[in-house]
Amino acid sequence: MISNEIKQKLIQIVGPENYDDSKAGRLAYSYDATPQFQSLPDAVIAPRNTKEVSEIVKICNEYRIPIVPRGSGTNLCAGTCPIEGGIVLIFKHMNKILEIDEENLTVTVQPGVITLDLIQAVEEKGLFYPPDPSSMKISTIGGNINENSGGLRGLKYGVTRDYVMGLEVVLANGDIIRTGGKLAKDVAGYDLTRLFVGSEGTLGIITEATLKLIPMPETKKTMLALYEDLEAAARSVSAIIANKIIPATLEFLDQPTLEVVEAYAQIGLPTDVKAVLLIEQDGPKEVVERDMKKMEQICREQQAISVQVARSEEEANALRTARRSALSALARLKPTTILEDATVPRSEIAKMVKAINEIAQKYNVKICTFGHAGDGNLHPTCPTDARDRDELERVEKAFEEIFAKAIELGGTITGEHGVGVMKAPYLEWKLGAEGIAAMKAIKQALDPNNIMNPGKVFAKSTRKRVVVTR
Ligand SMILES: Cc1cc2nc3c(=O)[nH]c(=O)nc-3n(C[C@H](O)[C@H](O)[C@H](O)COP(=O)(O)OP(=O)(O)OC[C@H]3O[C@@H](n4cnc5c(N)ncnc54)[C@H](O)[C@@H]3O)c2cc1C
Repeated sequence: MISNEIKQKLIQIVGPENYDDSKAGRLAYSYDATPQFQSLPDAVIAPRNTKEVSEIVKICNEYRIPIVPRGSGTNLCAGTCPIEGGIVLIFKHMNKILEIDEENLTVTVQPGVITLDLIQAVEEKGLFYPPDPSSMKISTIGGNINENSGGLRGLKYGVTRDYVMGLEVVLANGDIIRTGGKLAKDVAGYDLTRLFVGSEGTLGIITEATLKLIPMPETKKTMLALYEDLEAAARSVSAIIANKIIPATLEFLDQPTLEVVEAYAQIGLPTDVKAVLLIEQDGPKEVVERDMKKMEQICREQQAISVQVARSEEEANALRTARRSALSALARLKPTTILEDATVPRSEIAKMVKAINEIAQKYNVKICTFGHAGDGNLHPTCPTDARDRDELERVEKAFEEIFAKAIELGGTITGEHGVGVMKAPYLEWKLGAEGIAAMKAIKQALDPNNIMNPGKVFAKSTRKRVVVTR
């Protein structure tokens, strides 16, 4: 609870218009994109600058008030669900692109900038910011950095981590620090930039970021390879990489996903095949032509029944947009959509896809699978109904087995969606007790009072998905 005295102190910092403790306001920030997690915060605060963030944090640290930094709340791990109450910090005022530096190839932004706005702003100058999560129309850069988000272009260009050069961070004691910067080379001390990337708001609040840009690729081509056999599609992924081609995009959709995506996007996707691969290459024209030809040949050798090259940029864009809409399309099927993020080495994709289907059958649940096949990052997705407790229990068991299988194949419990509350019970499977202890030591050193997004990343118990209400 926030006492009236503390409330007045916080209002003095941000002004009454930026402090909301109405029931409606708190309700709006009590949940995020993760199904089945909800908990009311005590207040929602919208600071206007770094100094205000620092002053808010100092008060919260003094009175042990939890802080949940929040971008657009699109994370899928309950990372912004205020399970221990406290304040939700939003960045609607801190949403400016501060500088595009064409000499150093960097862009400096505030955390509330929408990812697509940034991508479009730099593209107008012939520059390229590759990380493109499917949620980019609404997600923020602050959220992308804190989840280390990936996207369709991750295979060739890497993920958010690979583009974060410097940060301004407000620490849990209110101190403001700067890490890294515009320098291509800088080894002065520990690499704190990397530490904060993917830290899920548990170590500090990012108030500014300097990101790397690269020149726009000269050309791009897109094609769809269709398969009658899931494993043949998965084998094609491994074969393309084994032939030393790194496509810009190598995405996988299975038949059930295709069917719902086509019903949603209506662009003429084939729905009678077992799987498709969406493949793209970009770069110099000759390289793109050569790679596309070679990949087409590989797909055919691996029993693709058809390979179709997009005839225009409009057609290619429609395919990309359709792929990006996979989760939204699947969400129309049933009241609850549980999307997971199991990731394996690319060479194990075929085994993982097969295992997912066997597990779905074993527990009698529907699981549609799509994902960034080139990264080994699959999104098995289950349309279900949270009111059906029996089915939900089977869904839980199925996903638990999917995570265990991913680990057995040398993979991980999450490739890009983060740990949050949802994956916390499984983190030890991946890191071991020693790994968890090392991470807890970092958390303890930077946030001894545990005010920064408490209850995330580290499991309190073996509790799994639950609705937490306060
Ligand atoms: C339809 C859909 C498609 C998606 N596709 C992808 C995809 O392709 N790839 C992918 O990786 N993810 C994807 N996601 C997941 C999600 O969009 C990403 O994790 C995204 O980066 C979250 O951004 P956000 O602004 O919504 O952040 P939020 O969800 O608000 O926050 C995410 C985390 O960042 C922390 N945080 C936010 N801002 C700050 C800050 N300034 N300082 C400190 N901590 C902060 C929060 O506390 C939280 O832990 C998808 C989600 C949806 C709903």
